[in-house]
Amino acid sequence: MADNRDKTTDQMKIWKENRSSQRPDTLTTGAGHPVGDKLNLLTAGPRGPLLVQDVVFTDEMAHFDRERIPERVVHAKGAGAFGYFEVTHDITRYCKAKVFEHVGKTTPIAVRFSTVAGESGSADTVRDPRGFAVKFYTEEGNWDLTGNNTPVFFIRDALLFPSFIHSQKRNPQTHMKDPDMVWDFWSLRPECLHQVSFLFSDRGLPDGYRHMNGYGSHTFKLVNADGERFYCKFHYKTDQGIKNLTVEEADRLAATNPDYAIGDLFNAIANSNYPSWTFYIQVMTFEQAEKFQFNPFDLTKVWSHKEYPLIPVGKMVLNRNPVNYFAEVEQLAFDPSNMPPGIEPSPDKMLQGRLFSYPDTHRHRLGANYLQIPVNCPFRARVANYQRDGPMCMFDNQGGAPNYFPNSFSAPETQPQYVESKFKVSPDVARYNSADEDNFTQVCTFFTQVLNEEERRRLCENMAGALKGAQIFIQKRMVENLKAVHPDYGNRVQTLLNKYNAEAQKSANVHVYSRPGVSAFAASSKM
Ligand code: NDP
Repeated sequence: MADNRDKTTDQMKIWKENRSSQRPDTLTTGAGHPVGDKLNLLTAGPRGPLLVQDVVFTDEMAHFDRERIPERVVHAKGAGAFGYFEVTHDITRYCKAKVFEHVGKTTPIAVRFSTVAGESGSADTVRDPRGFAVKFYTEEGNWDLTGNNTPVFFIRDALLFPSFIHSQKRNPQTHMKDPDMVWDFWSLRPECLHQVSFLFSDRGLPDGYRHMNGYGSHTFKLVNADGERFYCKFHYKTDQGIKNLTVEEADRLAATNPDYAIGDLFNAIANSNYPSWTFYIQVMTFEQAEKFQFNPFDLTKVWSHKEYPLIPVGKMVLNRNPVNYFAEVEQLAFDPSNMPPGIEPSPDKMLQGRLFSYPDTHRHRLGANYLQIPVNCPFRARVANYQRDGPMCMFDNQGGAPNYFPNSFSAPETQPQYVESKFKVSPDVARYNSADEDNFTQVCTFFTQVLNEEERRRLCENMAGALKGAQIFIQKRMVENLKAVHPDYGNRVQTLLNKYNAEAQKSANVHVYSRPGVSAFAASSKM
């Protein structure tokens, strides 16, 4: 046998070696009945037909027929791992959550990294944001920081979310990725510009999941033991260093090793090369938020590091691979509304929308009792409430405890110290149009000050290489938006488009750029 096989390739061998007994278990049905023959159907005569009383077959086949649960509508392809979070710096002056209680405290965590737009069989190395979701199993209930590898997002109003995702997924008739849909939406909504610029920059193709930063992205609220409140953003910086793939390498891997990122993470942990991230917060007082030059709850914007410096908090280490992918990763359900006392939502409209959407989708995918699934269960807290029954109730359903509140029988009581912090809202209720809340200033800073000349060149090439797949009127609208960021940005992309469009005209293949089999938003990772 080849001795250069990695840990993922050798999984079966390793599993066998690690068994306490080298003798196989007795094979059983799902109900635990020993099975005498698992190779041959029970039939009337050697040529059939099959008997319905072959319960070995029906038990196996009926379960197989039900193996798939609904795929996540976004973030379907992912990798998971487990480890711990350790506090290295005291932030109790900002936050009373027990997870930050004292320096040296550790909390078990589960992490799921993912691509966004592709299905669960899609390639890991496509140009796409990456999900970066962390579940902290705290003794005050689970805290889920359901973030991405970018500090911003495409939109700032959650009402647009289903349309935005539809535009990035498949055409309703052709069932193909559709550059018209992608760029039509992005160009009609210039608030996408910041995230789209990140996406087409080098960081749009991270080298696996270990070499990228993570961001809680939204603004949250922290509350300390004295009831003082602060706004906050969360950042995880990779200790492995940022590493990105070239377009060519990403395309090669998409064709030859579509599970590259999953394998990279699994092998690193199996080889005890545990990846880690340093955890930081940015803090903004309520007074600062009033005066901030941007809406501090706008998910398409960052808070400047210079004005709101990163404050170190702790370290996150991943040191255990899932024992079973379906049980521990496919069923792993993150929900931004999982917040322990001391961490609360800000008014961020995208966050507010996700507080509803995430648990709602888990109830659809996994059922009303999804929080009883071991990987989602808040095992370090004691769940005591008045929820009962529902499909797949796995424990004692809280036994004989009263199932109504209030009651006179010592059943769970509320504790006033856990009431959420108060905040004022006085404005008129309306559907406020946020489309024009300065979509350009921070993107301009990114283009002119963060990226160097080579990075700017690649950004423009990557973008034009994808935008060329859209119709000319959409290209023009997108270029106008880029010019509003910086004339150089728009002009460079337009120059490249002119070249591509002329070439396409020549070959009389206008608008036919898609290559089958390659995702994400368009033809290639250059997209
Ligand atoms: P800074 O110069 O302090 O921050 C720039 C940040 O940009 C870096 O710290 C790094 O964030 C990130 N960055 C560096 N190189 C790249 C790259 N090639 N692609 C993507 N991101 C990169 O300035 P500001 O905080 O004032 O931000 C200026 C601009 O930087 C913003 O408008 C925004 O576009 C971008 N940015 C800002 C972030 C923030 O949270 N303030 C985070 C990411 C980008 P990191 O350290 O998180 O890797």
